[in-house]
Amino acid sequence: MSPRPTLLLVVPVAWAPLWMPWFEGAPFDVLLHDRDAYDPARIDYTLSFRPPFGLLKSLTNLKTIFSLGAGVDAFLADPEFPNSVPLVRFVDPQLSTEMAQYVVMHVLLQHRHQRDFDAAQAQGKWAQRMLPRKTADTRIGILGLGEIGTVAGERLRALGFPVHGWSRTRKTAPGIESFAGESEFASFLGQSDFLICLLPLTKDTRGILNAKTFAMLPQGAYVINVARGGHLVEPDLIAALDSGHLSGATLDVFQTEPLPQDNPLWRHPKIVATPHIAAISDPRVTANYIIESIALVERGERHPNTVDVDRGY
Ligand code: NAP
Repeated sequence: MSPRPTLLLVVPVAWAPLWMPWFEGAPFDVLLHDRDAYDPARIDYTLSFRPPFGLLKSLTNLKTIFSLGAGVDAFLADPEFPNSVPLVRFVDPQLSTEMAQYVVMHVLLQHRHQRDFDAAQAQGKWAQRMLPRKTADTRIGILGLGEIGTVAGERLRALGFPVHGWSRTRKTAPGIESFAGESEFASFLGQSDFLICLLPLTKDTRGILNAKTFAMLPQGAYVINVARGGHLVEPDLIAALDSGHLSGATLDVFQTEPLPQDNPLWRHPKIVATPHIAAISDPRVTANYIIESIALVERGERHPNTVDVDRGY
């Protein structure tokens, strides 16, 4: 009889009670990196979000590396990442739905000027007025029409916004106009009253939210970055907000997380900042995904969510 496979869970020890119960009865052993002593050669699978650099290379018999998140930039940033081992990312309809909720909420808060009404209420002021811009005239541009960008686009389209998206290859999502590649980037930006970043962080997309990009947006555009902090050149955003070219921004992700206390993004009057909470992988759902995924790999099949390491996503 061949030995049971072993999954190494690389999460803080304090999270063990959140995760371990969902693996009970799984046909493999589960060890916790920060708690259990183990022989590195015994590990078949790992599950982590930002594994310490060098750890994955030290596990010499890995069959598959699982990412706890949809993005895998933290894995590929490891100079010793073992390229020959398949890297599988987390794709989940609940995660996409929650990401879309976050995006819809922040588009609506801005579109409906809710923060102005909050301020008026605080002063007991009856500030009745019509929407400054009609929904049908408020154009939404989504950078990255993948798993999450498509769901967010569909939800916004259902609310009456014209939606278009930009990706590497042409898309055919109903009711979402598709722009593809660098040659269509400028015309995509020129009609984005809201710019929503849902790109993976790769060598091609790092710093894509920069002064040049902002200058191509319509006057008064609003930026939402819900992908990775590395997409945004923070001083360029502050300059575009201070000049009045951009009307505001919502940021869920930052170059440095947690966002340092002295970072000006915390206190800028035109910025809404949240602590990387747009969607957090649910332990029960993720554990089921891993149990099914390991069964698939053990059957010798290629996982459909295997990352193209050269492309970076
Ligand atoms: P995905 O399915 O891989 O989609 C990525 C999209 O970006 C695809 O449409 C792809 O185009 C496009 N793209 C990639 N590189 C491009 C380039 N150089 N030029 C133009 N388009 C490019 O990814 P996803 O599952 O939607 O996730 C997107 C990102 O969201 C993740 O990578 C992660 O960083 C972030 N995220 C954040 C949170 C949070 O809590 N804040 C939670 C989950 C995910 P093609 O389809 O043509 O290849």
